[in-house]
Amino acid sequence: MAKEILIKPSLCTGCSTCSLACSMQNRGEFCPSRAHIRITKMDFEGRFEIIFSSSCRGCGICAKSCPSGAIKLIELPEAAG
Ligand code: SF4
Ligand code: SF4
Repeated sequence: MAKEILIKPSLCTGCSTCSLACSMQNRGEFCPSRAHIRITKMDFEGRFEIIFSSSCRGCGICAKSCPSGAIKLIELPEAAG
């Protein structure tokens, strides 16, 4: 079944668990700066921005590790026909 990552930045707490998990899964080390996802604090808005790089493999490990539901892996129904 096809999967898609759903993003809700308003739920992000800035914990960086997603970027730690991504870097460990894809680079073999806990190093958020080498992850395919970046969490940036928007100082004036008081919230966090979630950005996926073009190198993201779509593995979903970041979504599975997010404790707040800010990124979620959802299963898409098969297209009819
Ligand atoms: S879906 Fe992309 S950003 Fe998330 S863990 Fe996989 S490669 Fe990293
Ligand atoms: S998206 Fe989830 S795991 Fe990543 S920093 Fe925000 S709350 Fe933490």
